Amino acid sequence: MNIIVQKYGGTSVGTPERIKAVAERIKGYVERKYSVVVVVSAMGKTTDSLIALSKEITQNPSKRELDMLLSTGEQVSIAMLAMALHETGIDAISFTGSQVKLMTDGNFANAKIESIATGRIKDSLSKNKVVIVAGFQGIDEDENITTLGRGGSDTSAVALASVLGCRDCEIYTDVDGVYTADPRVVGDPVKLKEISYDEMLELARLGAKVLHSRSVEFAKKYNVRIHVKSSFNYEEGTIVMPREEMMEKFVISGVTSKKDEAKITLRDIPDRPGIAAEVFQELADNKIYVNMIVQSTGQGNKASISFTVLNSDLTKALIVCEDLKKKLSATSVDHKKDIVIVSAVGVGMLSSYGVAGRMFKVLSDHSINIEMISTSEIGISCVIDALYAELAVKALHKEFLEAGK
Ligand code: ASP
Ligand code: MG
Repeated sequence: MNIIVQKYGGTSVGTPERIKAVAERIKGYVERKYSVVVVVSAMGKTTDSLIALSKEITQNPSKRELDMLLSTGEQVSIAMLAMALHETGIDAISFTGSQVKLMTDGNFANAKIESIATGRIKDSLSKNKVVIVAGFQGIDEDENITTLGRGGSDTSAVALASVLGCRDCEIYTDVDGVYTADPRVVGDPVKLKEISYDEMLELARLGAKVLHSRSVEFAKKYNVRIHVKSSFNYEEGTIVMPREEMMEKFVISGVTSKKDEAKITLRDIPDRPGIAAEVFQELADNKIYVNMIVQSTGQGNKASISFTVLNSDLTKALIVCEDLKKKLSATSVDHKKDIVIVSAVGVGMLSSYGVAGRMFKVLSDHSINIEMISTSEIGISCVIDALYAELAVKALHKEFLEAGK
């Protein structure tokens, strides 16, 4: 059996017309003798509407019941797609997560996949049916319906590809691949033919929104190549694959920016062992997610620590920091909300000199002050004033990715 797993996102199945178009596309694969397994998201903005609906009852719904509610979105789209395939003369059958025994842990709203039984899927494929599986959902060991976190259908698809022994998984979205920058910011970014799992994860962490990160982690772990394509055209997309198998390696493969974080600075805290541990333990105990951290030494055994937190955690983080200020006799707690983290990401960084220097020079040439810097193996990030976000991304893209660079 030549099995292919395809996932269609919300926009791709947003209307009955779009669903019919997807059915036509699938028909093409059936005619080319593929055994097709399709994973779909809920139609359009259905999941958002369902969340809004629950809020009309309560601001604090039971997590179990919220998953029960949200899972209905995908149940609509699988049935609609099956009907659309039937209309084109193709035999198809839809399954919910529970029907294919997509088992997860019991962590509602963010469940992790533990196993998927392939029996029912393979049985239907052997009867020449297209198998349509609801994305984003599973069941826990007590048969409660769970969901995998927003955007989780990507992960469902990659997991299915993996258990069905497919090397490749096609993910259809409204963009036709992974670009070197956000097309809304940079006029004509380049569509990458290939990108490594690590770069994709790093870009996602630093603000690019293409794939659900968990799906990429899953793909990396189980060695599944993800083809990101558009359901609106037939162009080649981008393949997310192992670093070692890539044909072309650029120094930088993407420039991105992330807006939803704020910077906090604790000034003049004691410069001795255990202080940073205390600060970040306290933040962790309050379930505050910290991203970038910079410590600088001042005079007289004092140090200052700056770090970024999600904007949504800022109020909570400031309360914790005011407490720490008293405890550690810091001189002040400052914060700045309108910051942006601009980053350049690329595996090529591992083998080339001077990338950081080039990045800082570009920012300085545009009189942009760097407030914080952090690096990873394949990424460099700078915190700058949010005012300069677009300017910085454009300039960095020009430096690293436009003509002859
Ligand atoms: N429908 C779900 C969501 O919007 C899952 C998905 O789209 O992948 O988050
Ligand atoms: Mg979606």
